[in-house]
Amino acid sequence: MKQVTDGIAMLDLSTDMGGYQVEIHPTLIWDDKDAVLVDAGLSGMVPTIRYEMEAAGVPLERLTWIVLTNQDVDHMAGAEELLAAVGHRVLVIAHVKDTPYIEGEKPLMKHNASRGPVPKVRVDIMVNHADVLPVAGGLTVIYTPGHTPGHMSIYHRNTKTLIVADASECRNGKLTGPNKECTPDMAEALRSLTNLATYDVKRAVCYHGGLCDRNVNEQIRKLAGQAYGVANSRCGCNFTDPRTGHSTAARPLSLLIGRWGHTVPTLPSRPQQRRRVDCEANHLGSDVDV
Ligand SMILES: [Zn+2]
Repeated sequence: MKQVTDGIAMLDLSTDMGGYQVEIHPTLIWDDKDAVLVDAGLSGMVPTIRYEMEAAGVPLERLTWIVLTNQDVDHMAGAEELLAAVGHRVLVIAHVKDTPYIEGEKPLMKHNASRGPVPKVRVDIMVNHADVLPVAGGLTVIYTPGHTPGHMSIYHRNTKTLIVADASECRNGKLTGPNKECTPDMAEALRSLTNLATYDVKRAVCYHGGLCDRNVNEQIRKLAGQAYGVANSRCGCNFTDPRTGHSTAARPLSLLIGRWGHTVPTLPSRPQQRRRVDCEANHLGSDVDV
């Protein structure tokens, strides 16, 4: 476990995947009320996750949210066991485009059937670009497809911490871009870097490679610039993604709090409580039936 900043810790987990030793880094974000685990690791990792969380001063039982950044097994296969171990209601969040894979409606894109049963887990709330999760002062969803169709990164604005997930890897503190072998749509993944380049980032946590905390803005813009000649992407929160026309301006926290109700125990149980959170402005401001 590495304390990244106040209220954020990067877990250190390692496992053998197909003969390779793989290190992975779920991120724990917490405040007085909630504890959020961004990515859940693989099956069999509950004891290590428990140990790592305790080292950060956050018992596993405090967990209230699990955010799955994408459908790959090293991110989501451990979620079901974690839910069982916590023993109370935990909200599972994923991007709308990876949710069908995570829930088992579609086969996981990269799962090899010879590795055993296909993992799946229910998703309580599907999110989209620029949604803000009302926890720990607000966690902004940044849609960064390419590694998977519904891949997302998470931005904690209060501490300028970016949870990169697999949008880029990191080696010795240096961002190295998306992993070529595991990224089916590399062109899309490279375009996604331009999305990341519009946020002010003090430190970045990559799921593979860990913490990068030196000249992060510069590194991300350089990567994005190399990919698309947008080295002069300005930092700010009103950049409009040329692919989608979506603005990166984060939607106010209160909008989502208003739609969901922010107290976990009062949320109705599935399936009624599940709702789709769309990006279009015309959905905002009107409550969704539950
Ligand atoms: Zn991964």
